[in-house]
Amino acid sequence: MRLQGKTALITGGNSGIGFATAKLFVAEGAKVVITGRNKETLATAARELGPNALALVADVTDIAATEAAIRQGAEKFGKYDIVFANAGIAGAGGTPLGAAKLEVFEKVISINLTGVFFTVQSALPYLNDNASIILNGSVISVLGIPGYSAYGAAKAGVRAMARIMASELSPRGIRVNVVAPGAIRTPIWGAAIATPEAEKAFEKRIGLMTPLGRLGEPDHISKTVLFLASDDAAHIQGQEIFVDGGAVASPSGAPIYRG
Ligand code: NAP
Repeated sequence: MRLQGKTALITGGNSGIGFATAKLFVAEGAKVVITGRNKETLATAARELGPNALALVADVTDIAATEAAIRQGAEKFGKYDIVFANAGIAGAGGTPLGAAKLEVFEKVISINLTGVFFTVQSALPYLNDNASIILNGSVISVLGIPGYSAYGAAKAGVRAMARIMASELSPRGIRVNVVAPGAIRTPIWGAAIATPEAEKAFEKRIGLMTPLGRLGEPDHISKTVLFLASDDAAHIQGQEIFVDGGAVASPSGAPIYRG
């Protein structure tokens, strides 16, 4: 049990990567506070996670609600040892040059960048010294994928912020690192995986672009987050770990380039 006696906050803990991480953390002995906007999926997640989890409604763009949820969680389970600032959206329709809407652009930045900053700031008074903060980044911060200007900028901003936060929080022994997933099978992909046929085609497309030849699963990320959260990562500070089957580090190894 690598997280026995620890308390964790996971934003966006009711779906995808966040929910997978919440399950793993509970299994590893942690008490876990999850947040999200959707009451129903939060309630379902809470039932599955059991008594060592608390699910609270809090939109990361609502700082007062975020602070209130963090306080409530700390009152129930004690101060936090781990924060996984994970909540994020893809941004419906994306932000392609020539057709981007200001409203979509600002929403992506507001949730995926500003929301991450204020999650950490709101948690600060409730963080134990030597805590571990993990921010959720993305390969899209470096891959130059068309249509993703706002999303890519937000995730590149997350990387930059992590380094600054690491400097600011090192005096308290608090670590700040980024997990940067490649394409992972979660509801964030919406229509791309909405039917079995669509999901198969998506899986094939991602597999062709990925040296390890597959779509990632939520537990590829949750297990990396567990490592960063645990004492095994005690000397890792200000880093970004790409969990992407090699998509960023060795793109030429992808099946699409093989003869
Ligand atoms: P997901 O299943 O759609 O989960 C997103 C989570 O974020 C949900 O729990 C959602 O809960 C929460 N959320 C969204 N907006 C929120 C807000 N304003 N306030 C509070 N919670 C909010 O998608 P996922 O793939 O697990 O995404 C998790 C993170 O991984 C995101 O930051 C995403 O950018 C990142 N990521 C994912 C992939 C991938 O391929 N899946 C790749 C790279 C990075 P509610 O709907 O209840 O608000």
